[in-house]
Parts: sequence; C-alpha cells; structure tokens
Amino acid sequence: MPNKELNKLKNVGPATIAQLNNLGIQSIQDLCFHLPINYQDKTKIMQISDIDVGDEAFVEGKILSVQTIYKPRKMLVAKISNGSSFFNLRLFYFHPNQSKQFRSGAHIRCFGKTSLSRYGLEMIHPDYQIMQNITPLSKTLNPVYRITKGISQNKMRSLIKLAMDDYNFEDEEIDLSRFYNDESLTIREALNIIHAPDPTIPIDELTPGGTHPARVKLLKEELIAFQIGMVSIKNKQKTSKAYECKNNGKWENDFKHTFPFELTNAQKRVSREINNDIAETSPMMRLVQGDVGSGKTAVALLSATKALDSGYQVVFMAPTTLLAQQHLESIKNYFPSHQDEIALLTSGLRKKERDEIIENIFSGSIKFLVGTHAVLQNDVNFKALAMVIIDEQHRFGVNQRLTLTRKADNGLSAHQLTLTATPIPRTLSMSIYANMDVSVIDELPPGRLPIETSMVAISARDKLIKRVEKAIKKDSLVYWICPLVEESETLDLSSVNERFDTLKESLGEKNVALMHGKLSNGEKKEAIYKFKSGEIKILISTTVIEVGVDVPDADIMIIENAERFGLAQLHQLRGRVGRSSKASFCILLHKDKLTELSQERLSALCDSNDGFAIAEKDLEIRGPGEILGSQQTGVLPFRYANLVRDNKYLTDTKNIAERIYDADKEKANQLMKRWISGIISYANA
Ligand code: ADP
Ligand code: MG
Repeated sequence: MPNKELNKLKNVGPATIAQLNNLGIQSIQDLCFHLPINYQDKTKIMQISDIDVGDEAFVEGKILSVQTIYKPRKMLVAKISNGSSFFNLRLFYFHPNQSKQFRSGAHIRCFGKTSLSRYGLEMIHPDYQIMQNITPLSKTLNPVYRITKGISQNKMRSLIKLAMDDYNFEDEEIDLSRFYNDESLTIREALNIIHAPDPTIPIDELTPGGTHPARVKLLKEELIAFQIGMVSIKNKQKTSKAYECKNNGKWENDFKHTFPFELTNAQKRVSREINNDIAETSPMMRLVQGDVGSGKTAVALLSATKALDSGYQVVFMAPTTLLAQQHLESIKNYFPSHQDEIALLTSGLRKKERDEIIENIFSGSIKFLVGTHAVLQNDVNFKALAMVIIDEQHRFGVNQRLTLTRKADNGLSAHQLTLTATPIPRTLSMSIYANMDVSVIDELPPGRLPIETSMVAISARDKLIKRVEKAIKKDSLVYWICPLVEESETLDLSSVNERFDTLKESLGEKNVALMHGKLSNGEKKEAIYKFKSGEIKILISTTVIEVGVDVPDADIMIIENAERFGLAQLHQLRGRVGRSSKASFCILLHKDKLTELSQERLSALCDSNDGFAIAEKDLEIRGPGEILGSQQTGVLPFRYANLVRDNKYLTDTKNIAERIYDADKEKANQLMKRWISGIISYANA
C-alpha cells in the first residue's frame, strides 16, 4: 500500500498520515506533487515608512506596548516600531498564551496586509513570529500550501522537504522526450523551483495563470495525464457491452398518460438522441445540458422507460436527499402501475429497511431505484442494470459516475445519462467530457415568463416583508434563502433560524416553515410537502434547495446576503421559481454598501435570465479561474491545472496524451498514477 511509504519519513506517524490522506496525499510522490497555491516573500524586510496602505508587507520591529481592549469588542493591540516609524498589530482571536508572548521590548516579524485606521497604519491578524534571537531571513519565497486541521503551513513545508529528499528522481523521472520536445527543465528541477523559488522570480509567474517554465512544465504534464485518463476510459468503454434497450411497453404507456405536457422540440430531439444510443450494445455516455427549468427530468424518465420496458433496471442518482425524495415522488406519480417496483435508497434508512431494499434490487423486483450517494455502496448490486441517470452531474466526481456504471454486472456496463445545468464552453467540454457525447436542451417549455429580478438593500427589509405579506395573501409561495443555519459570532451573515423568528413574528407562525441540512429527512419532506400544497407560504431555507427542487407554483425567491454567493449559484437558486406560467420574482437582498464589483455581478443577474450569458459575464468579471466555480473542487481531479484558465494547452496536450497512450502503456500508467491516482482504477491503460 502506498501509505507505508509515508511511514518512511522521519517523525511521520499514523496521525499525520491520516491528516495527509484527508488532503488526498497517500504517498511520498503525492507529497512532492502537493503544489503551492501561493507564495509569500519573506526574503526582505520592508521599511515601515515605505509601505503603501493595502500592500502585503514583511516588517520587523520592537514591541513598544501591548494592551487588551474590551470595547467595541475584545482585542489585543500591540504597537510595533522599527525606530523611526510604527504600526499597530491587532488580534481579535487569541489565547491567553498568545497574549503572554507579546511583551514590550520583544522582537517581532510580521507578514500581512496593511490597512489604515484612525490610529495609523495597522495589520490585522498577520502571520507573526516573536523572536528570541534574530534569525537569518529565508533565501527563497515561502510556499503556501493547501493544508488541513493538524497540519500547519510550517509542518507542511517540512514534510514536503523530507519527501523531496527521499523521492527517488532517477527512478521516477518519466522521460517523455520521445513524445514531445521540452528541453527546458526536468520534473525534479521544476519541483525544486516550485517548492522553493528564488526571490527574483515574480510571484505572479508562479501562481495560477503564471507562465514560468517550471509551472508550465508541471501543468502540461498534469493535463497530459488527465487526458490519458480520458482516452483510456473511452477505450475501455468501447470494449465493453451494455443491454439493448428498445422496447415499448407499460412503463412508457404510464408516462405518456401521466406526464401533463407536450414535450418541447428540444426535449424531443434530445430524447431521440438518447434512444438511438441505448438501442445499441455499446454503452452510452451522454451528457444532457439544459438551463434550469428546461425539463431535463422528463427527458431522462422517458428514456428510462425504454430500459424498463426491455425488462432491465434503472438507477437515478441525485446529489441531495431532498432532491432524491422529490424525484421519487414524481416518479411514483408518473408510473402508477409500477408502485412496488420503485424504491428510494438514501443514507438515512434504518438497517432493516435498507437490507430489504438491497435484497429486492438484487433479486430484480425493484426495477427503478432512486437515491443519493448511498446507491454507490459496495453491497448495492443489481440483477440487470441497463441504465444509470445522474442528476446534477457536476456534483459528482468522475469516479463516482463510473462506479455506478460498473454495477451492471454480468460483465456488462450500464448506459450512462448525466444531466447538468452548468453551461460549459465547448472547448472545455471536449476535454473534460472527452469521453462523452453532449446533447443540449436549448429551449424552455412554452409560456414561461422571464423571472423579474431586482436588488434591494438590507435596510429596506421591513418594507420587503410588508410586500411579502401582501403577496402571500394572493397565494404567492415564497422561498427566503439565508446562507447560515444558526447565527454566527464570527460571520456577519444572516441565518435561517434568525429569519424564521422574525418572519414568524411579522407574518404568522402558520405561514412559515424551516428548511436546512440539519433537519431529519422526515422533517425536510414534511416542510416541502406543506410548501408544495400551499399550507405554508414561506419556506425559509439554506441553499439545500439550490439544486433541482421543483415546486412549480413557487413564484418569489428572496436571497439574503446575495453578494456573498457566486453568480452560477444565484442563477440556480433563482431557477427554483419561474417554473410555470405564473409571473415570478427574484429579490437579491444585499448589504447597503456594495463594492463596485458586487454591484456589477448582481446587476448581471438582473439583466439576464440566460444561464449561458450569465456564465460568460461571470467569466468576464471574475476571470476564467472561477467559472467552473468551487463546485468543481474535488470533482475534477486537478491539483494544478485549471481547464478554463489553462485551456490554451489543451489541444496540444491532448495530442501528446493520445500518442503516449498508443505507444507506451507503461508510461501512460506512470503518469496517471502520479497525477490522477483517484481515477486510475477505472482508467488503467
Ligand atoms: P430541470 O431541467 O431544471 O431539471 P425540471 O425537469 O425539473 O427542470 O422541469 C422543470 C418544470 O418544468 C417541472 O415542473 C416540469 O414538470 C416542467 N416541464 C417539463 N417539461 C415540460 C414541458 N414540455 N412543458 C411544460 N412544462 C414542462
Ligand atoms: Mg433538475
């Protein structure tokens, strides 16, 4: 096991290994390839008098005085001088031990962002070091790593140093000169530079978007490894077989009688594309992209009937219990003559219930399984699984999706249908989803009115509540979103509990209900049920309702602290209303003083209802690094590359990857092991 390797390092025991594992680090190689996310320049001391307010600065001085102040809140303030000028260091959170270290006369070095208060220049919570003796300054830039509880930056730095000393570069150097010409640096040289750069290298050449050869070397290798992974998954898929699904029958009949709408042309087209695929024995891998509310579920269910009517099983996986429950409910409504063949599997079930469901999946009496990640577990085995449907696919990792298709058994693979509302530019989808075909639902059902979106400052909240009061008298259904569950001392954000209390008071207890991730599954179900039926008018919720929740009559969406959410997320949240022919509204409640950037971002949302246009605006305002959003962390297996920002390397590396894959399986495997060990078990060449 690779874990053993980490044992070899000095002073690295089980606790440290567990912490490293949390970061996805399993081996010495993984440690060497744990690359910095940023750097600090602590090689030169700056003169206090040379600092511009807002700069990051590294300064040194003597502590002149220290005091703990209690108003307006508890804080520690130390005045630090280098002889001619001074600044204040301010800490809001500190242990008694920490405050003891701050003695007048002690020598201190601080690294941090400077700001100006009415007492002059200051640093709030800088990195600081109180020194017994003056120690020499670092000769290289200080790397900043992704860390975890139990592993500080300093500990990470020394672990990586140990790993770099131990790593056998002669053995591990993967010579790719046959495949592409890159004389600049070896991997060892590149890693040496990246972990300990010379201070003459400008930091922005080394950080995301930077073009330093050491960075480019690593980046390209990672992209090559990733693309080898994609090619080999695709190849594996070509050689495996799936069930043919082309019968019509009772399932389809049920759906045609119960689905209340005529499919849009886009839905019909995509449906045909899917049906053509699954009528073949070669496993489908198809991604359906469609903006929120475009009706992806109906398309997926209609194609599921083909598999079911051919006598096989289907599994439908959603990212949250709430969404899975909702899908179960609508699926039960769509297929009235199959009630006993439909089941829900989530992690909240009692053991007895779960055992029974698992048995019935295996025996084949459950035909249509709906669930969350819980369906991925090892002991969930099917009799004849023909098709997997993955809703909101961007919430799942490559390996989770593949685990599911592997459950087909009998040496077969399942057809895979994934659904997403995240618009992804075409060049990217060709790389990320190189192994998939893409269908686009580019039309909304008829009669939808554009959602009217506006911005309201938080100081006008009481007025807004009055408006809500009027609206619910006319049978409006309102989502009221807050970022937190409970009030927080450290974060200045609103919470559902707090808002529940205020709204209960002003609008009446019988009109409001709470919704958040900490509720039990039963409580969540009840809240949604009451909301859907109109028994309560206002659902005060966290972003758990962000994906997929479908209450067609809901017509007002209010989002507090809107400036704190990403545009894509706001668009998803907003997509919970405007799901019928009713006129709907979205109100972005924001703090009174918005920065120019926030103003621009929120306005973008007011100006457009089109997910693609919003994604493009997001790209323009925030820069490409953010477009895929934090949702992608942990989903795409990248440590270093960012497909949007680094997309100019994609075509080139794709060609190299294909050549390596064709000519040298051993190197292909080595590269995958180095960079994408997470998906290697599915992709081994
Ligand atoms: P999404 O693509 O965001 O997953 P859903 O599948 O949840 O969207 O569909 C959104 C709403 O539109 C649902 O209430 C669904 O019943 C309805 N819907 C789906 N297809 C049509 C259609 N062709 N005409 C009218 N309404 C439709
Ligand atoms: Mg959906």
